[in-house]
Amino acid sequence: MPGVGARLIVAEFDLIALIRERCAIARDDVRQGIGDDAALLAVPAGQLLAVSTDTLVAGVHFPQSAKVYDIGWKALAVNLSDLAAIGATPAWATLALTLPEADPRWVAEFANGFAALAQQHRVALVGGDTTQGPLSITLTVHGFVPEGAALLRSGAHVGDSIFVTGTLGDAAAGLHFSLPPHAEEGAEDGTGPLIARLNRPTPRVAQGLILRGRAAACIDISDGLIADLGHICTASGVGAEIDADALPASSALSSVSDTDARRGFQLSGGDDYELCFTAAAAEASVLLGDLARSGCGATRIGHIAAEPGVRVRDAAGKLVTVPRSGWEHFA
Ligand code: ADP
Ligand code: MG
Repeated sequence: MPGVGARLIVAEFDLIALIRERCAIARDDVRQGIGDDAALLAVPAGQLLAVSTDTLVAGVHFPQSAKVYDIGWKALAVNLSDLAAIGATPAWATLALTLPEADPRWVAEFANGFAALAQQHRVALVGGDTTQGPLSITLTVHGFVPEGAALLRSGAHVGDSIFVTGTLGDAAAGLHFSLPPHAEEGAEDGTGPLIARLNRPTPRVAQGLILRGRAAACIDISDGLIADLGHICTASGVGAEIDADALPASSALSSVSDTDARRGFQLSGGDDYELCFTAAAAEASVLLGDLARSGCGATRIGHIAAEPGVRVRDAAGKLVTVPRSGWEHFA
């Protein structure tokens, strides 16, 4: 490793060795990991392989100034969130890394952030590709789900209750407060926990496993509640009624925003990586108890209706207008 301030450019294979060393996790089902032409992996009998890919581009998915450790963490977190949303147990990952230069300090910090979350979920990095170009990180994760137990977007029924895990809006508020002019206000303004949620999200893997085979429909909230719940509604051929006052907020969010600003973050803000799911009333109370015991409870925020579209109402039943429905590339 070079000293602080030094810049050392090394070869592709040194970077791969560095990644391999820092992200090593032993798993019996990895018959061949990093180092050959392809990984060889054993899928347990009776299980389907769940596969999901997400790309992080500098300046789009994280600020150019983001901590490298956080980029590594978040690259894995957003992918594990997709496995959580389909109810899969994480197992393996592959990493396509495009770097402007072969900087081993950057790669080591990235690998440290990645490995910290990978350890928590026993995810083995089994291969990838390392190339030169504008910074871009593409991660593919693989997991297992028993045949017939996956949590699909298409399973919602009229009358189901709608729930979200954890709290909504922190990450969007964190983004808001980490941009100028707020970024200059310093760490004593109560926005630290919000910015932390933006940079180091917690994928709800354990909660997805509790929900599988039991929730009717599920999605993870990456682009905003309205947008992502809208995907459930479209896939299920239903609509949704949301109670604005029921939306769960962290104390950190409540203490820095008024009602309108808070609702904006909760309804349209992306990057929360909470799960939004629907369940029949008969399933709901046992599920909520199990989720609460897992360390991340869920809150009922509305119900599935026949009329298409997602509507948000206040306590008086008046429609709440949502400024922007969520993040969309190319919009
Ligand atoms: P090939 O030329 O066959 O594509 P590479 O030289 O690209 O092989 O990679 C050598 C080995 O290192 C392969 O097993 C590959 O999966 C792994 N690898 C390359 N880049 C990464 C990375 N960023 N993360 C994890 N494994 C990687
Ligand atoms: Mg290659």
